[in-house]
Amino acid sequence: MKSARITGPNEPLAVSETDTPKPQGDQVLVKVKSVGVCHSDLHLWEGGYDLGDGQFMKVTDRGVKYPVTPGHEIVGIVEEIGDSVNGISKNDEVLVFPWIGCGECPACKVGNENLCDSPKSMGVFQDGGYSDYSLIPSYKYLAKLDGVNPDSATSLACSGLTAYTAIKKANQNSPEFILIIGAGGLGLMGVQIAKAITKAKILCVDLDDQKLSTAKEMGADFIFNSKDADVIQKIMSTCNGKGADSIVDFVNAPPTVKTALAVIRKRGNLVLVGLFGGSIELSLVTIPLKSIIIQGAYTGNYNDMVELLDLARKNIINPVISKRYSLDDANTALNDLKNRKIIGRAVINP
Ligand code: NAD
Ligand code: ZN
Repeated sequence: MKSARITGPNEPLAVSETDTPKPQGDQVLVKVKSVGVCHSDLHLWEGGYDLGDGQFMKVTDRGVKYPVTPGHEIVGIVEEIGDSVNGISKNDEVLVFPWIGCGECPACKVGNENLCDSPKSMGVFQDGGYSDYSLIPSYKYLAKLDGVNPDSATSLACSGLTAYTAIKKANQNSPEFILIIGAGGLGLMGVQIAKAITKAKILCVDLDDQKLSTAKEMGADFIFNSKDADVIQKIMSTCNGKGADSIVDFVNAPPTVKTALAVIRKRGNLVLVGLFGGSIELSLVTIPLKSIIIQGAYTGNYNDMVELLDLARKNIINPVISKRYSLDDANTALNDLKNRKIIGRAVINP
């Protein structure tokens, strides 16, 4: 099989041939039709995360081993199954749940493998889908597309799923206004999902007008460019002078979190999702005085992915796929994402 692999931080991805594996037991071999290109693939390629103050968290210190095949938004056709596989057959069109856990820790035991203590996520800790074939550890991590477009379905394994988890958290205080920061792959899904599952007015901030106008088409009621010097006042006056009840930050970098803390309402809820990173100083008394909640959200669980597939099947959500690349062009795909040339999601069709 042919795969585009990360051999080391910032090294060009190398396209290499290896023997196509034969599935055993619960395993399933999927012929990859489409794989989403996520900003997290960029962090993996760059070797880690910015912790702020000159500190860097290396992915190799978190258990990543290079070379690794990235790609955690995998859709394909079942090519071959192991002899203990149940409910999945050759030629089924499937979406892969990539956030595989140990199965034993407290999170895994309640079905939240995405929050596992020793994660084995595909495209991060084990090989993913930038490849013409992908070996899935168990049929339990597959969901049938049943009519959802394969390119669109890729988004439901990460960008859609993460946005779904985050918007559910943002919807817990019956918000009148939800502010979504970042209108990229995740943020545009966030706008659509917020429109579909909440009663809130949706505000969206980005620094790119084209992405903001797509956010408006996807259901944002108000859009703001963060380069505008008056952005904080404009958000405050849109939220009746009191601020946003809930904020989901799909960027999560110093400028966006500072904006979020400046416009959050009393009793507000801030959900941090992005991994752009860095650090900020927190003015401590404002947290109790405003009684705000600051929380994180990380991907989502298998059941939520199945719910999302259903929302896509009913056309309630419609992931934006704006560019398609071949496996040989994986480097171009990552560079285009890095250079902010992608609206919504790009996919690789191996
Ligand atoms: P993307 O590159 O598609 O989108 C990022 C968006 O943020 C772009 O629209 C960009 O214009 C905007 N942006 C960047 N800096 C900004 C700023 N200062 N102010 C306003 N807007 C700004 O990325 P993506 O695939 O949507 O991923 C977003 C982040 O979320 C990445 O860091 C990614 O690794 C992370 N992520 C987190 C999870 C999770 O579970 N927590 C899951 C997937 C991705
Ligand atoms: Zn992702």
